[in-house]
Amino acid sequence: MANFFLPDDANQQIYLDANATTPVLPQIADVVSHTMQVCFGNPSSSHITGIQAKYLLEQTRSKARDVIGASDGDILFTSGATEGIQTAVVSTLIAAKNHQIENPVLLYGATEHKAVPNTLKHWNNVLDINAQVLAIPVDKYGILDHEFIRKHAANALMICTMAVNNETGVFQDLAAIEQVIRSENTRVAWMVDCVQALGKTRLALSQTTIDYAPFSGHKLYAPKGIGVLYIRKGSAYTPFIAGGGQESGMRSGTENLPGIAGLNELFSLLLDKENHTFKSLEQLHAFRKQLHEALIDTFGSITFNHEFEYSVPTTLNFAVNELTSKEVMDLFDAAGIRVSGGSACSSGANRSFVLDAMGASDWQSENAIRMSFGPAVTEQEINYACDKIRSLKPILEANCLVVSDSTSPQQEVCAIDLTQLRHQAACCWLYVDSNKHAVVIDPIIELIPRMAKIVATQGLLVKAILDTHKHQERLSARCLLAKELAEQYVGKETDELGWPVNDETIPLNTARLRKVATPGHSQDSVSYLLENSLTNDISYCFCGDLILPGGLGNTVISGSDTAQMVQSLKSLATLIDDTTLICSGHDYQQCFAMDWHAQKATTPLLATLLNGQLSEAEFIELKQQADQQKQHTSHPLCGYVDVLESSPMKQLTSTDAKAMLGDQATYLIDTREPYEHGVANLAEVFNVENAKVINIPLSRMANAIVQGQLDKAKNYILVCRSGNRSKQAANNLSQLGFEHVYNLNGGLALINSNQQ
Ligand code: PLP
Repeated sequence: MANFFLPDDANQQIYLDANATTPVLPQIADVVSHTMQVCFGNPSSSHITGIQAKYLLEQTRSKARDVIGASDGDILFTSGATEGIQTAVVSTLIAAKNHQIENPVLLYGATEHKAVPNTLKHWNNVLDINAQVLAIPVDKYGILDHEFIRKHAANALMICTMAVNNETGVFQDLAAIEQVIRSENTRVAWMVDCVQALGKTRLALSQTTIDYAPFSGHKLYAPKGIGVLYIRKGSAYTPFIAGGGQESGMRSGTENLPGIAGLNELFSLLLDKENHTFKSLEQLHAFRKQLHEALIDTFGSITFNHEFEYSVPTTLNFAVNELTSKEVMDLFDAAGIRVSGGSACSSGANRSFVLDAMGASDWQSENAIRMSFGPAVTEQEINYACDKIRSLKPILEANCLVVSDSTSPQQEVCAIDLTQLRHQAACCWLYVDSNKHAVVIDPIIELIPRMAKIVATQGLLVKAILDTHKHQERLSARCLLAKELAEQYVGKETDELGWPVNDETIPLNTARLRKVATPGHSQDSVSYLLENSLTNDISYCFCGDLILPGGLGNTVISGSDTAQMVQSLKSLATLIDDTTLICSGHDYQQCFAMDWHAQKATTPLLATLLNGQLSEAEFIELKQQADQQKQHTSHPLCGYVDVLESSPMKQLTSTDAKAMLGDQATYLIDTREPYEHGVANLAEVFNVENAKVINIPLSRMANAIVQGQLDKAKNYILVCRSGNRSKQAANNLSQLGFEHVYNLNGGLALINSNQQ
């Protein structure tokens, strides 16, 4: 039954990332295991065990023909689609070596899986073909530009298109493409990547002039490491792997018989009309509709990045308006729902080239979520997935991620005191006093909806929206935010950075905000100091891009002046002390809290200026040199910082962590955002009392330091979902002088999979 529930009772996961890979179906796993243990022969052996293996191999090939409609041509077993693509490209380019075309081109669809363009470029170079590699554009629906193909087909050595896109599920009209290609060029090699089409669309390859079609087992419930390549009769072929002559000499190496047996069972399931493991297209469409409705009910405003009409029913690609893909992914992951941000194979990239090619907006491309299920999904699984998605709604409301429509939403976001909100490396700060009076410093356009929700849901009154300078790289979000907040912003007459013109300070219950001019990075740069009205101690210094974690703002942009920066730094140093938190406008180093002491320790240029080891003139010279140099080696940012050394920090397994927690002075710090806490409660996971768990998301790290939530004498084990954020936080705490910090290696992900 189940194919995307993984049987882990405590933390049942809902796997909705089938376009990345699928679990192996139990009946397929059985035959794979049987082939490893019982029918394990080498198909090349002449004894009975070998003959049985050979029979299985040939039977699978014959079933493959039936599944993909290839009564003739060759069917080769490969390690997967990437090998199939290499084989097709190498075969074509070797055959094309002596071509007579004056300006040869290699064409590929702009939304193709990276395996295709990268393979074309690689072999075009290695084999010295020197063809121009051209991307065929797509329209806003992801459909290939047929006229572009028509224009270039005559000069093409190879044309690569895909049947179904892995990110959006968009399918192409192969018959129409064939008509265009063949009307211009009857000989050009045409490869169609069919990886995502298997089991989702009908294929009849021998009835087409497709020369090569790669497939991959792991995208449809067979194991990883097995695939099939179809080669049209008469198409060019050069063995990509030579050796013992297996596969009639076309692909040497002992065959992956367990994988092939897995395909055998998969093909049987696909061919058996009586077997309903694979659902009809109609059912799959109904499942997508259900998921679509669950998403709309939960998130409200969503932009779908593809038209369902032009895509297979097993994929939904969308961006939640106003939530970043990271927030959505963290939320889903915490609820046990596995989806992907764009394509799993290009994880790390923060834009989708597929959506870019379709002309999607920056927001869509940067925040795309792909939800995909396999065609063997069950109704029960889809129902469960929809229930789980809907169960996120109260969490979203409680965390101001969506505006609540309930009368008394449970408030989990703690906006009191300081919260950092980030967009890429830019930082925006929200300070709220206990009367719920707030100031926003360095607002960011992308975060306006989020900020507006926090203000609305928490009932804040915003007394000022301030910029620390006119950010040259982005538009000011001040006026837009003020407009969005309407009556929740106490609009006064302000200067161009948002400071109320007639006021010396902005009073905030037991504190007040003061403005000091700190030119240097720009002429108009100011810093805002939050000082205690009784003690005059300055807890936060909002300094914009004058000082950045691990560095200083750059002084090679128009209007900047290094000599002025010197004076600003020196005068700030007389106002703040080592415990003041430096709240910058940018953070390229992932330091969430940086106090003045740590800032000096990580910025030698600053420290030596302030302690007199460097004269002002020497500082100016060194700073200008450094900025000039970095301007040529890195992107022009608001400041150039050196990579901070990561502090030596101990990585713990969950077993080590559990053992350490026996010690009275050892605590867990949960660095996840509150909306991720829903499912995995750390106290339960580690079997410790609640008092042993301190919640400090990265957005509240600076606040936690100022509030004295942590004690340098104690041991802290930092935890998050994957071990990355907690590692950054642990690093950050080490920089701040905490000596006993540890990171739970691999985070909660590894505990749940019992891999530690
Ligand atoms: N082509 C497409 C459309 C894919 O989705 C993938 C995998 O993500 C590949 C090719 C590569 O397949 P394999 O992992 O079998 O090499």
